[in-house]
Amino acid sequence: MELTQDEKYMKEALKQAAKARKIGEVPIGCVIVYEDRIIGRGYNRRNTDKSTLAHAEISAIKKAAKVIGDWRLEECTLYVTLEPCPMCGGAIVQSRMKRCVIGTMSPKSGCAGSILNLLQEPRFNHQVEITEGVLRDECQEMLQEFFKELRIRLKEEKRLAENASTTGF
Ligand SMILES: [Zn+2]
Repeated sequence: MELTQDEKYMKEALKQAAKARKIGEVPIGCVIVYEDRIIGRGYNRRNTDKSTLAHAEISAIKKAAKVIGDWRLEECTLYVTLEPCPMCGGAIVQSRMKRCVIGTMSPKSGCAGSILNLLQEPRFNHQVEITEGVLRDECQEMLQEFFKELRIRLKEEKRLAENASTTGF
């Protein structure tokens, strides 16, 4: 089956998410597309960089702005595997992004419709078109698997710690 444009670029965002997973970060990835070309890529590096700002979207926006030579990304589309948080939602509006394509929604932190809809707040001077649910299953599975493995690892660590304490170490 042939992929749509949106699916093709969401696959690229998923590749970025896989980079985050590889370094033990929550797997979230992002790409920004201008005139059918990727001009910015990013993945979550929050723990690695010890920075609240190291979200996938922020990294991709920085890179795209460098390529465009302007902070305005008016003709660009941002693809992200998970619905943006308040910080990234704000940055997407500030960058005047034309469109935001989302893999899976984030009921606990999403600001593209789940908790707030910063992207389409009519009182702001810019609104962003939203397409959601592109490759939803793949995006969701990547996150679910990550957290499942994390829970198993934490359980194992707890068990080891308990063993250590009962043996006096
Ligand atoms: Zn974010």
